[in-house]
Amino acid sequence: MSAPPPGPQARATSKASGIPGVKHIIAVASGKGGVGKSTTSCNLALGFAALGLKTGLLDADIYGPSQQKLFGLRGKPRQLGPRMLEPLERFGVKVMSIGFLVEEDSAMIWRGAMVISAITQMLREVAWGDLDILVVDLPPGTGDAQLTMAQQVPLAGAIIVSTPQDIALIDARRGIAMFEKVSIPILGLIENMSSFCCPTCNHITPIFGHGGARTEAEQRGIPYLGEIPLDLQIRKTSDDGRPIVAMEPDGIHARRYVGIARDIWTSVVTGAAHRPPPRIVIE
Ligand code: ADP
Repeated sequence: MSAPPPGPQARATSKASGIPGVKHIIAVASGKGGVGKSTTSCNLALGFAALGLKTGLLDADIYGPSQQKLFGLRGKPRQLGPRMLEPLERFGVKVMSIGFLVEEDSAMIWRGAMVISAITQMLREVAWGDLDILVVDLPPGTGDAQLTMAQQVPLAGAIIVSTPQDIALIDARRGIAMFEKVSIPILGLIENMSSFCCPTCNHITPIFGHGGARTEAEQRGIPYLGEIPLDLQIRKTSDDGRPIVAMEPDGIHARRYVGIARDIWTSVVTGAAHRPPPRIVIE
């Protein structure tokens, strides 16, 4: 029996050094676009802040940055010295997004090397200061951005956001497999747009199905972090740049997001995230 050959993570960890002052970095990922990953990242970051944690949010969704809109932030980050940028801040969260630096309707065309360089700069050339947790909103899918994150910084873990239906879960599975391959712990799966409660008659309609993510998590032995309903208020507040956790902190949705943030924080600090089993190679 011999030690397994160095996989991608073995190379990654040897390179990955932390960001000075930042205690924990977590990534929020999804297999598909449009499942609510950015909305979830934004409200989870606000959830961490509501728990009293010093929180930052890095919008690494360089193909479709939306955190500037979700946080209702305008203006450009201030330059601090020759290389560093100061993150913008709102609702107690420090935010950096490529969306602060480019026009809203400009095409975001990135080659592989540019992706790596942009994300590395946003991680390392931003004056994050002291943070308990930095939430990174990744682009959907499994590409250069995800690998850059896995290789550039020691990630405490990844959260996968999915809608409940099979077609989204198939892609979520790919995301989970990718993080497992690079030995990033999976902090859990969140089912977004889980079911729709009609605001006039209170009838619940599972528009995208219901419970698919929980079943998926159970089958894979991954923590299931909970579900967020498909709700008009969540959509409206997000689009208005007044995210629901900041606007209605005592409301049912905010409590749900803060509860999920608390569970994530517990597994980050206790190191209880799901890790893939070690690979044993027998020769
Ligand atoms: P992604 O980052 O996965 O592409 P977004 O977070 O940008 O997705 O969300 C896509 C759209 O869905 C946005 O208009 C957002 O307001 C809406 N949305 C996200 N989550 C919910 C939810 N739980 N209820 C209602 N609308 C939602």
